[in-house]
Amino acid sequence: MYFLIVSEMVKLEKISDHIVIDTETQSMSRSSIIGGISLGKYSIAIESGSTLEIGMDLKLKLRDFFNLPVKYLFLTHTHNDHRGGMDAFSDETLIMSEKCKENMPKRIRLSKFSLEAFEEKHIIQENELSMEFLKVAGHSIGSSVAYFPSEKVLFAGDLFITEPINFGLPFMSFYQNKPKRTGNPEEYFAAFELFKSMDIDVIVPGHGQIINNPQEYLDKQTAFFNGLKTHFVAEIKRGNNLEEIEMPSMELIVHAYKIAESRKPKSKHVRFLDHYLEVLKTSFYNYYSGIFHNLD
Ligand SMILES: [Zn+2]
Repeated sequence: MYFLIVSEMVKLEKISDHIVIDTETQSMSRSSIIGGISLGKYSIAIESGSTLEIGMDLKLKLRDFFNLPVKYLFLTHTHNDHRGGMDAFSDETLIMSEKCKENMPKRIRLSKFSLEAFEEKHIIQENELSMEFLKVAGHSIGSSVAYFPSEKVLFAGDLFITEPINFGLPFMSFYQNKPKRTGNPEEYFAAFELFKSMDIDVIVPGHGQIINNPQEYLDKQTAFFNGLKTHFVAEIKRGNNLEEIEMPSMELIVHAYKIAESRKPKSKHVRFLDHYLEVLKTSFYNYYSGIFHNLD
């Protein structure tokens, strides 16, 4: 006999009339923010958390909260902290981008799920309510977001990671364009621009706290990364290589080190910040130097 103990981890809180999220589980397990949305007749789970237990608990809690069956599970991207609980949704339908599907690790057997994969955009409509799924890439191949226009909420996955995780710095990470493993900042810029043009009151990030001032937040993200881009493009044009280029002295970076140094253990946090900035530096250098070499 096989028993699976469902842990009582997930605590759903309402952030708008039809949307609930759990931000607690992420601090206890290496899990993303998870949540769900009611379309009146059924609900859609957003992300499945990092483990089967979290996925099962999310499904039960969504059912109880809305008193409706769960019909779909949407995954923003392929990383384990977002899809680790997906087996709990084997009776539901998975929604993900075609590119996300193609880039799932080989050991994940998608054949046992019913699946709705989309190229660029997918809409689920139920009476007056609709949910839009958009592929924007950036963070990883096929990264997608879910947007609920009637309540102006955007589930953005790891395109955003907020406090207290990233020392007050805008977040950008790169896991794509294998085998080079360098990313594409321009996809982030395009995504930020798209979000700026949308009517959004709340952004639910992949990790951290929800963003209640999206326009201001997007401006800050864009300004920071544009500052980096300008710096790297100028340095590359001067003929400097990766080792010769320093990160620019930007106020947000100075501030981030102050935060890192105030945390305990200090050396661990400073190392973590050093590593993040090193990844940013390498990614910006590789991407923009690649472009200029290609233009030669
Ligand atoms: Zn994540």
